[in-house]
Amino acid sequence: MRYVYQAVKRMPKPLCNGVVYHSEEFEVGALLCACGCGHRVSLLVPDSHQITSEGGMATVRPSIAVCDAPCKSHYYISAGRVEWLPAFSEAMAASVMRGQIARHALYDARPRSWGNRVRAAITRAYNSLRSILRILIPWN
Ligand SMILES: [Zn+2]
Repeated sequence: MRYVYQAVKRMPKPLCNGVVYHSEEFEVGALLCACGCGHRVSLLVPDSHQITSEGGMATVRPSIAVCDAPCKSHYYISAGRVEWLPAFSEAMAASVMRGQIARHALYDARPRSWGNRVRAAITRAYNSLRSILRILIPWN
């Protein structure tokens, strides 16, 4: 199986075999595991992985370690071709998982989303303050 590169806005579901999906806008990538187990592999781009197109074929760097599925597959995808690497041991998989969870936590707490939330809260507070002022001071 070879992986083609496909730029998307949002991740489709279900995914097709042999396609590395990449959403630049949402900074994510996704593919079905190369071992055929059907596991959906999610990649954070560019935080954890780089996805590039080489003549329409996908290249993913660094290697993809499937830690959250029973297959524990580990491989590179280079110009669409899968290059297998030794499977992760349970301990290695657990440590990579912890790293990925930490990155996900970091990702969720990005200033961008916090900024939006803070801005929305300030706007709400300002609007309610104005309506209170209008009641207290009629000429305001
Ligand atoms: Zn797999």
